[in-house]
Amino acid sequence: MKQIILTGDRPTGRLHVGHYVGSLKERVKLQNSGKFDEIYIMIADAQALTDNAEHPEKVRQNITQVALDYLACGLDPEKSTIFIQSMVPQLTELTFYYMNLVTVSRVQRNPTVKAEIQQRNFEASIPVGFFCYPISQAADITAFHATAVPVGEDQLPMLEQCKEIVHKFNSVYGETLTEPEIILPSNQACLRLPGIDGKAKMSKSLGNCIYLSDEPEEIKKKIMSMFTDPNHLRVEDPGKVEGNPVFIYLDAFCKPEYFEEFWKDYSCLDEVKAHYQRGGLGDVKVKKFLNNVMQEELRPIRERRKQWEQRLPEVYEILQQGSATARATAEKTLEGVRHAMRIDYF
Ligand code: ATP
Ligand code: MG
Repeated sequence: MKQIILTGDRPTGRLHVGHYVGSLKERVKLQNSGKFDEIYIMIADAQALTDNAEHPEKVRQNITQVALDYLACGLDPEKSTIFIQSMVPQLTELTFYYMNLVTVSRVQRNPTVKAEIQQRNFEASIPVGFFCYPISQAADITAFHATAVPVGEDQLPMLEQCKEIVHKFNSVYGETLTEPEIILPSNQACLRLPGIDGKAKMSKSLGNCIYLSDEPEEIKKKIMSMFTDPNHLRVEDPGKVEGNPVFIYLDAFCKPEYFEEFWKDYSCLDEVKAHYQRGGLGDVKVKKFLNNVMQEELRPIRERRKQWEQRLPEVYEILQQGSATARATAEKTLEGVRHAMRIDYF
Protein backbone atom coordinates (compact mmCIF):
# COMPACT_ATOMS: atom_id res chain seq x y z
CA MET A 1 0.00 0.00 0.00
CA LYS A 2 1.23 3.50 -0.84
CA GLN A 3 2.26 5.65 2.13
CA ILE A 4 0.60 9.04 1.77
CA ILE A 5 0.57 12.11 4.02
CA LEU A 6 -2.07 14.81 4.16
CA THR A 7 -1.91 17.66 6.63
CA GLY A 8 -2.29 21.42 6.68
CA ASP A 9 -3.03 24.69 8.40
CA ARG A 10 -5.68 27.36 8.35
CA PRO A 11 -4.50 30.66 6.83
CA THR A 12 -5.77 32.73 9.74
CA GLY A 13 -2.37 34.15 10.66
CA ARG A 14 1.35 33.56 10.43
CA LEU A 15 2.46 30.24 11.89
CA HIS A 16 3.81 30.08 15.42
CA VAL A 17 6.15 27.89 17.43
CA GLY A 18 3.20 25.72 18.54
CA HIS A 19 2.61 24.76 14.91
CA TYR A 20 6.31 24.19 14.52
CA VAL A 21 6.77 21.67 17.33
CA GLY A 22 3.24 20.24 17.09
CA SER A 23 3.23 19.47 13.41
CA LEU A 24 5.59 21.31 11.04
CA LYS A 25 8.83 19.88 12.42
CA GLU A 26 7.41 16.35 12.22
CA ARG A 27 6.26 16.93 8.64
CA VAL A 28 9.70 18.04 7.53
CA LYS A 29 11.23 15.01 9.23
CA LEU A 30 8.76 12.66 7.53
CA GLN A 31 9.24 14.44 4.21
CA ASN A 32 12.99 13.87 4.37
CA SER A 33 12.71 10.28 5.67
CA GLY A 34 12.02 9.02 2.16
CA LYS A 35 9.37 6.67 3.57
CA PHE A 36 6.42 8.35 1.90
CA ASP A 37 5.28 8.01 -1.68
CA GLU A 38 3.21 11.19 -1.74
CA ILE A 39 2.96 14.19 0.61
CA TYR A 40 0.16 16.77 0.42
CA ILE A 41 0.28 19.94 2.50
CA MET A 42 -2.93 21.94 2.38
CA ILE A 43 -3.50 25.60 3.13
CA ALA A 44 -7.07 25.34 4.37
CA ASP A 45 -8.59 28.60 3.17
CA ALA A 46 -12.12 27.18 2.81
CA GLN A 47 -11.96 25.91 6.38
CA ALA A 48 -10.61 29.27 7.58
CA LEU A 49 -13.64 30.96 5.99
CA THR A 50 -15.99 28.88 8.15
CA ASP A 51 -15.26 31.19 11.07
CA ASN A 52 -13.94 34.16 9.08
CA ALA A 53 -16.69 34.61 6.52
CA GLU A 54 -16.56 38.37 6.97
CA HIS A 55 -12.78 38.58 6.63
CA PRO A 56 -11.95 37.14 3.21
CA GLU A 57 -9.02 39.51 2.70
CA LYS A 58 -7.41 38.31 5.94
CA VAL A 59 -7.63 34.70 4.76
CA ARG A 60 -6.30 35.60 1.31
CA GLN A 61 -3.29 37.51 2.69
CA ASN A 62 -2.42 34.74 5.10
CA ILE A 63 -2.17 32.12 2.36
CA THR A 64 1.12 33.78 1.39
CA GLN A 65 2.24 34.02 5.02
CA VAL A 66 1.60 30.33 5.67
CA ALA A 67 3.33 29.32 2.42
CA LEU A 68 6.37 31.38 3.45
CA ASP A 69 6.39 29.72 6.88
CA TYR A 70 6.27 26.28 5.23
CA LEU A 71 9.18 26.98 2.93
CA ALA A 72 11.13 28.58 5.78
CA CYS A 73 10.75 25.42 7.90
CA GLY A 74 12.07 23.21 5.13
CA LEU A 75 8.99 21.90 3.35
CA ASP A 76 10.32 21.25 -0.12
CA PRO A 77 8.03 21.61 -3.15
CA GLU A 78 10.13 18.99 -4.93
CA LYS A 79 9.06 16.44 -2.33
CA SER A 80 5.75 17.82 -1.00
CA THR A 81 2.72 19.07 -2.90
CA ILE A 82 1.69 22.35 -1.29
CA PHE A 83 -1.79 23.43 -2.35
CA ILE A 84 -4.72 25.74 -1.64
CA GLN A 85 -7.88 23.96 -0.46
CA SER A 86 -10.41 26.03 -2.42
CA MET A 87 -8.51 25.34 -5.64
CA VAL A 88 -9.55 21.70 -5.29
CA PRO A 89 -13.38 21.90 -5.54
CA GLN A 90 -13.60 18.09 -5.41
CA LEU A 91 -13.07 18.47 -1.65
CA THR A 92 -16.30 20.46 -1.34
CA GLU A 93 -18.20 17.86 -3.36
CA LEU A 94 -16.89 15.05 -1.18
CA THR A 95 -17.84 16.96 1.98
CA PHE A 96 -21.41 17.21 0.74
CA TYR A 97 -21.65 13.44 0.28
CA TYR A 98 -20.10 12.73 3.69
CA MET A 99 -22.63 14.99 5.41
CA ASN A 100 -25.21 12.25 4.84
CA LEU A 101 -23.13 9.80 6.86
CA VAL A 102 -22.75 11.85 10.05
CA THR A 103 -25.37 12.91 12.59
CA VAL A 104 -25.66 16.37 14.12
CA SER A 105 -25.36 14.87 17.60
CA ARG A 106 -22.13 13.11 16.64
CA VAL A 107 -20.53 16.40 15.57
CA GLN A 108 -21.89 18.05 18.73
CA ARG A 109 -20.04 15.47 20.82
CA ASN A 110 -16.69 16.22 19.13
CA PRO A 111 -14.63 17.72 22.00
CA THR A 112 -12.51 19.96 19.75
CA VAL A 113 -15.62 21.42 18.11
CA LYS A 114 -17.09 22.01 21.58
CA ALA A 115 -13.94 23.78 22.78
CA GLU A 116 -13.67 25.91 19.66
CA ILE A 117 -17.32 26.95 19.76
CA GLN A 118 -16.71 28.18 23.30
CA GLN A 119 -13.42 29.86 22.38
CA ARG A 120 -15.17 31.80 19.60
CA ASN A 121 -18.29 32.66 21.63
CA PHE A 122 -20.38 30.93 18.98
CA GLU A 123 -22.78 29.26 21.45
CA ALA A 124 -25.92 30.92 20.11
CA SER A 125 -24.87 31.46 16.53
CA ILE A 126 -22.72 28.67 15.14
CA PRO A 127 -22.30 28.98 11.37
CA VAL A 128 -23.40 25.68 9.77
CA GLY A 129 -20.17 25.61 7.77
CA PHE A 130 -18.08 25.86 10.92
CA PHE A 131 -20.10 23.14 12.60
CA CYS A 132 -19.42 20.85 9.65
CA TYR A 133 -15.69 21.42 9.43
CA PRO A 134 -14.77 18.01 10.91
CA ILE A 135 -16.66 16.49 7.98
CA SER A 136 -14.81 18.63 5.46
CA GLN A 137 -11.56 17.66 7.15
CA ALA A 138 -12.45 14.01 6.60
CA ALA A 139 -12.96 14.84 2.93
CA ASP A 140 -9.53 16.53 2.75
CA ILE A 141 -7.81 13.49 4.24
CA THR A 142 -9.61 10.79 2.28
CA ALA A 143 -9.53 12.58 -1.08
CA PHE A 144 -5.80 11.81 -1.15
CA HIS A 145 -6.13 8.32 0.38
CA ALA A 146 -3.87 9.59 3.16
CA THR A 147 -2.47 6.89 5.41
CA ALA A 148 -0.70 9.30 7.80
CA VAL A 149 -1.79 12.66 9.21
CA PRO A 150 0.88 14.44 11.28
CA VAL A 151 -0.96 16.98 13.45
CA GLY A 152 -1.17 18.30 17.01
CA GLU A 153 -3.11 16.59 19.77
CA ASP A 154 -6.16 18.84 19.34
CA GLN A 155 -6.79 17.01 16.08
CA LEU A 156 -7.30 13.56 17.65
CA PRO A 157 -11.11 13.83 17.73
CA MET A 158 -11.05 14.93 14.07
CA LEU A 159 -9.15 11.83 13.07
CA GLU A 160 -11.56 9.64 15.04
CA GLN A 161 -14.48 11.24 13.25
CA CYS A 162 -12.73 10.75 9.91
CA LYS A 163 -12.19 7.04 10.56
CA GLU A 164 -15.89 6.64 11.40
CA ILE A 165 -16.83 8.26 8.10
CA VAL A 166 -14.46 5.95 6.22
CA HIS A 167 -16.03 2.88 7.88
CA LYS A 168 -19.53 4.09 7.26
CA PHE A 169 -18.83 4.93 3.62
CA ASN A 170 -17.08 1.64 2.93
CA SER A 171 -19.81 -0.39 4.60
CA VAL A 172 -22.62 1.39 2.73
CA TYR A 173 -21.04 1.80 -0.71
CA GLY A 174 -18.26 -0.81 -0.74
CA GLU A 175 -14.51 -0.62 -0.03
CA THR A 176 -13.48 2.73 -1.52
CA LEU A 177 -11.74 4.89 1.08
CA THR A 178 -8.50 4.49 3.01
CA GLU A 179 -8.36 4.74 6.79
CA PRO A 180 -5.76 7.26 8.05
CA GLU A 181 -3.53 7.14 11.13
CA ILE A 182 -2.72 10.21 13.19
CA ILE A 183 0.99 10.89 13.81
CA LEU A 184 1.52 12.83 17.03
CA PRO A 185 4.84 14.36 18.05
CA SER A 186 6.80 11.93 20.21
CA ASN A 187 7.83 14.69 22.65
CA GLN A 188 5.04 15.19 25.22
CA ALA A 189 5.76 18.92 25.51
CA CYS A 190 5.04 19.34 21.79
CA LEU A 191 1.57 17.81 21.83
CA ARG A 192 -0.09 21.07 22.77
CA LEU A 193 2.25 23.96 23.38
CA PRO A 194 0.69 26.49 25.80
CA GLY A 195 0.50 30.21 25.01
CA ILE A 196 2.94 32.74 26.48
CA ASP A 197 -0.01 33.80 28.67
CA GLY A 198 -0.18 30.31 30.22
CA LYS A 199 -3.43 29.44 28.40
CA ALA A 200 -3.69 25.77 27.47
CA LYS A 201 -2.97 26.25 23.75
CA MET A 202 -0.90 28.69 21.79
CA SER A 203 -3.33 29.73 19.08
CA LYS A 204 -3.42 32.36 16.37
CA SER A 205 -6.94 33.29 17.42
CA LEU A 206 -5.89 33.92 21.04
CA GLY A 207 -2.96 36.25 20.28
CA ASN A 208 -0.64 34.44 22.71
CA CYS A 209 1.96 33.34 20.19
CA ILE A 210 5.62 33.53 19.35
CA TYR A 211 5.60 33.58 15.56
CA LEU A 212 8.20 31.89 13.38
CA SER A 213 8.71 35.26 11.68
CA ASP A 214 9.11 37.32 14.90
CA GLU A 215 12.25 39.47 15.06
CA PRO A 216 14.82 38.71 17.83
CA GLU A 217 13.66 41.68 19.93
CA GLU A 218 10.00 40.59 19.84
CA ILE A 219 10.94 37.04 20.78
CA LYS A 220 12.93 38.29 23.74
CA LYS A 221 10.15 40.64 24.88
CA LYS A 222 7.58 37.85 24.72
CA ILE A 223 9.76 35.38 26.60
CA MET A 224 10.67 37.84 29.34
CA SER A 225 6.95 38.59 29.87
CA MET A 226 5.96 34.93 29.90
CA PHE A 227 3.64 33.44 32.46
CA THR A 228 5.43 31.10 34.93
CA ASP A 229 4.52 29.61 38.31
CA PRO A 230 2.38 32.35 39.96
CA ASN A 231 3.45 31.18 43.44
CA HIS A 232 7.14 31.48 42.70
CA LEU A 233 7.37 35.04 44.03
CA ARG A 234 10.87 35.21 45.51
CA VAL A 235 13.98 33.55 44.16
CA GLU A 236 14.32 31.43 47.34
CA ASP A 237 10.78 30.02 46.97
CA PRO A 238 10.40 26.49 45.63
CA GLY A 239 8.94 26.64 42.13
CA LYS A 240 6.65 24.39 40.13
CA VAL A 241 7.88 22.89 36.89
CA GLU A 242 4.74 20.99 35.82
CA GLY A 243 2.43 23.19 33.80
CA ASN A 244 4.97 26.02 33.87
CA PRO A 245 5.14 27.31 30.27
CA VAL A 246 8.82 28.29 30.53
CA PHE A 247 9.75 24.70 31.33
CA ILE A 248 7.34 23.24 28.79
CA TYR A 249 9.04 25.39 26.11
CA LEU A 250 12.44 24.21 27.31
CA ASP A 251 11.24 20.60 27.09
CA ALA A 252 10.10 21.30 23.54
CA PHE A 253 13.12 23.26 22.27
CA CYS A 254 16.21 22.71 24.41
CA LYS A 255 19.07 20.57 23.10
CA PRO A 256 21.89 19.28 25.35
CA GLU A 257 24.52 21.35 23.50
CA TYR A 258 22.82 24.60 24.54
CA PHE A 259 24.13 24.19 28.11
CA GLU A 260 27.73 24.17 26.93
CA GLU A 261 26.97 27.21 24.81
CA PHE A 262 24.74 29.33 27.07
CA TRP A 263 24.57 28.03 30.63
CA LYS A 264 27.64 26.24 31.90
CA ASP A 265 26.27 26.12 35.51
CA TYR A 266 24.14 23.13 34.50
CA SER A 267 24.70 20.12 32.28
CA CYS A 268 21.10 19.20 31.55
CA LEU A 269 17.50 20.34 31.91
CA ASP A 270 16.82 17.99 34.82
CA GLU A 271 19.43 19.82 36.90
CA VAL A 272 17.78 23.17 36.17
CA LYS A 273 14.38 21.77 37.06
CA ALA A 274 15.65 20.28 40.33
CA HIS A 275 17.19 23.62 41.34
CA TYR A 276 14.00 25.52 40.47
CA GLN A 277 11.90 23.04 42.46
CA ARG A 278 14.00 23.27 45.59
CA GLY A 279 14.17 27.08 45.41
CA GLY A 280 17.02 29.49 44.74
CA LEU A 281 16.66 29.80 40.99
CA GLY A 282 14.85 32.89 39.68
CA ASP A 283 12.50 33.07 36.69
CA VAL A 284 14.61 35.71 34.97
CA LYS A 285 17.64 33.42 34.71
CA VAL A 286 15.56 30.58 33.26
CA LYS A 287 13.87 32.95 30.83
CA LYS A 288 17.21 34.32 29.66
CA PHE A 289 18.34 30.79 28.89
CA LEU A 290 15.07 30.02 27.12
CA ASN A 291 15.54 33.18 25.07
CA ASN A 292 18.99 32.01 23.96
CA VAL A 293 17.57 28.61 23.03
CA MET A 294 14.64 30.06 21.07
CA GLN A 295 16.82 32.60 19.28
CA GLU A 296 19.11 29.78 18.15
CA GLU A 297 16.18 27.63 16.97
CA LEU A 298 14.30 30.40 15.18
CA ARG A 299 17.16 32.29 13.50
CA PRO A 300 17.66 29.88 10.56
CA ILE A 301 13.90 29.70 9.95
CA ARG A 302 13.56 33.50 9.95
CA GLU A 303 16.52 33.91 7.63
CA ARG A 304 15.20 31.38 5.12
CA ARG A 305 11.81 33.07 5.30
CA LYS A 306 13.35 36.43 4.40
CA GLN A 307 14.98 34.86 1.34
CA TRP A 308 11.65 33.45 0.17
CA GLU A 309 9.99 36.84 0.74
CA GLN A 310 12.21 38.12 -2.07
CA ARG A 311 10.91 35.39 -4.40
CA LEU A 312 7.12 35.74 -4.13
CA PRO A 313 6.36 34.96 -7.81
CA GLU A 314 8.09 31.59 -7.29
CA VAL A 315 6.02 30.99 -4.17
CA TYR A 316 2.79 31.60 -6.14
CA GLU A 317 4.00 29.29 -8.87
CA ILE A 318 4.59 26.55 -6.27
CA LEU A 319 1.03 26.99 -4.97
CA GLN A 320 -0.49 26.99 -8.43
CA GLN A 321 1.33 23.88 -9.56
CA GLY A 322 0.70 22.12 -6.26
CA SER A 323 -3.01 22.88 -6.54
CA ALA A 324 -3.15 21.45 -10.07
CA THR A 325 -1.48 18.23 -8.89
CA ALA A 326 -3.79 17.97 -5.86
CA ARG A 327 -6.83 18.55 -8.07
CA ALA A 328 -5.87 15.70 -10.39
CA THR A 329 -5.41 13.29 -7.45
CA ALA A 330 -8.68 14.31 -5.81
CA GLU A 331 -10.59 13.96 -9.08
CA LYS A 332 -9.39 10.38 -9.40
CA THR A 333 -10.68 9.61 -5.89
CA LEU A 334 -13.97 11.34 -6.70
CA GLU A 335 -14.43 9.16 -9.77
CA GLY A 336 -14.19 6.14 -7.47
CA VAL A 337 -16.55 7.73 -4.96
CA ARG A 338 -19.20 8.66 -7.54
CA HIS A 339 -19.00 5.17 -9.00
CA ALA A 340 -19.39 3.56 -5.57
CA MET A 341 -22.33 5.86 -4.78
CA ARG A 342 -23.97 5.08 -8.10
CA ILE A 343 -23.96 8.72 -9.19
CA ASP A 344 -21.64 8.26 -12.18
CA TYR A 345 -24.36 8.70 -14.77
CA PHE A 346 -22.90 9.34 -18.22
P1 ATP B 1 -6.80 28.85 14.69
O1 ATP B 1 -6.82 29.61 15.98
O2 ATP B 1 -7.13 29.68 13.49
O3 ATP B 1 -7.55 27.55 14.75
P2 ATP B 1 -4.41 27.45 15.31
O4 ATP B 1 -3.30 28.23 15.91
O5 ATP B 1 -5.23 26.55 16.17
O6 ATP B 1 -5.29 28.47 14.48
P3 ATP B 1 -4.47 25.55 13.13
O7 ATP B 1 -4.22 26.04 11.75
O8 ATP B 1 -5.88 25.28 13.57
O9 ATP B 1 -3.79 26.57 14.15
O10 ATP B 1 -3.62 24.23 13.42
C1 ATP B 1 -2.65 23.74 12.51
C2 ATP B 1 -1.89 22.56 13.07
O11 ATP B 1 -1.04 22.98 14.14
C3 ATP B 1 -2.73 21.43 13.64
O12 ATP B 1 -2.08 20.22 13.34
C4 ATP B 1 -2.70 21.66 15.13
O13 ATP B 1 -2.86 20.46 15.83
C5 ATP B 1 -1.29 22.21 15.31
N1 ATP B 1 -1.23 23.14 16.45
C6 ATP B 1 -1.85 24.34 16.54
N2 ATP B 1 -1.59 24.93 17.72
C7 ATP B 1 -0.77 24.08 18.39
C8 ATP B 1 -0.13 24.12 19.68
N3 ATP B 1 -0.29 25.15 20.49
N4 ATP B 1 0.66 23.07 20.05
C9 ATP B 1 0.84 22.00 19.24
N5 ATP B 1 0.27 21.92 18.01
C10 ATP B 1 -0.52 22.93 17.59
MG1 MG C 1 -7.09 25.50 15.22
